[in-house]
Amino acid sequence: MKMAVAGNQWAVGQGGFYSGRVTVDGRSVLDWVYDCGSSTAKSHPAREIRDYARSHELTSNASKQIDAVFISHFDADHFNALSDLAGTVHRVARVILPLVSLEQRLVHLLSSQTPESPQDLEDYVRFVVDPGQALADIFGQTTQVISVTPRTDFQTFAPTPIDTVEPIDTIPQEDYEQPLEFGISVEEGPGLALLLALRVDGRWEPLWELVAWTPLAKWPSREALLASVVSEYGLTGTDEALRLLSDSTWVLGVVRDAAARQRLKRAYEAAGSLAPGLSSRTNRTSMLLYSGPVLKSPWLSTWRAHRRSPRPASLLERCQIDPWPRKVAWLGTGDISLNHPSAVADTRRVLGPKRLGRVGVLNLPHHGADPDYPEELLRTGDLRPNVVVAAAGSNNHYDHPGRLSLFEPPRTGAHLVVVSEERASRWRSDVSLRRSP
Ligand SMILES: [Zn+2]
Repeated sequence: MKMAVAGNQWAVGQGGFYSGRVTVDGRSVLDWVYDCGSSTAKSHPAREIRDYARSHELTSNASKQIDAVFISHFDADHFNALSDLAGTVHRVARVILPLVSLEQRLVHLLSSQTPESPQDLEDYVRFVVDPGQALADIFGQTTQVISVTPRTDFQTFAPTPIDTVEPIDTIPQEDYEQPLEFGISVEEGPGLALLLALRVDGRWEPLWELVAWTPLAKWPSREALLASVVSEYGLTGTDEALRLLSDSTWVLGVVRDAAARQRLKRAYEAAGSLAPGLSSRTNRTSMLLYSGPVLKSPWLSTWRAHRRSPRPASLLERCQIDPWPRKVAWLGTGDISLNHPSAVADTRRVLGPKRLGRVGVLNLPHHGADPDYPEELLRTGDLRPNVVVAAAGSNNHYDHPGRLSLFEPPRTGAHLVVVSEERASRWRSDVSLRRSP
């Protein structure tokens, strides 16, 4: 039995769109997506989603679905193409996102580049103010929405025992001694793990795990922030403040108007939740995602990572990397600052050295921004990726990827790949695992 795991970083420009798929003997059994958005131009994610759905037969085959869409955080360039995705693929079973508070979500509106088109801006505000409703509008009621609570008390995630398994696919008997039954189990732990399991001798054996967790950013108390809004606007009390902040029409008015935006920023700054002169370089709450094997029985593996197009995107680049150590796992980091000691400690605690050691492809935090470069985490020696990917494109006024991302990876033996909006920059990694006889 051969299990293959393919990961694709799609060329959406400044933003993020990653897809993963597990196949067993050529049949797909698990599909997932991590972030789906771009601030470069809408046409790029639209094109990439089309190619993704087509190449994965997610439009033509009604029996195929995306099992999980993970959204790292509330910046538009990480989720603004979700409606495109919903309109293109047959079905999305569940969406998993971090459960951060309304006040925290609004920081993204105050601090990031907002869309120029009025409709896009309205969609963005609606999503941030009420993500549950926005997701129901996008995907319909049959898509389950799961929120992962940010926390600080992390422990290493143990993949077993499996509590409840939802059977998802069966490969019929003619090919094997008995039919192969696959299932998904969603386990709550220090975050959330989605396990792909195979039924062996009546028991579910986990094969592959997707572990998502959200480190808790340092944040003033809700009371302090609401009190500050009360005093800035001369309101009657925190109830009124909360009512205003949860009213998407009011928030839209604020975001549209420079002076009003400045005013709400002032309230946030007074409560200590935004540094004065706030830029995109603020440490934010982002949900990370690890994808890797949980294999007890003896499996042999191969690993290969390459541009999706046969030609390298530049003369300086290797077009394929595979003689390196077999590191079959992948780590996505959203826009978190992995330079922050608590985020480094949380990441090490949740994954443990074994999982970290398996990471072959690391998606650099925050599109390769210098202040968020995971220098500390790489220095611990647990994490030694073969490839680091910066998902950065044009319409990015932040100079992503930064100097550190450009020059540091080779020192740790890693190869930097920049995935932009150019088709030729798509990056793909393939893992193949075979059950030894
Ligand atoms: Zn971003």
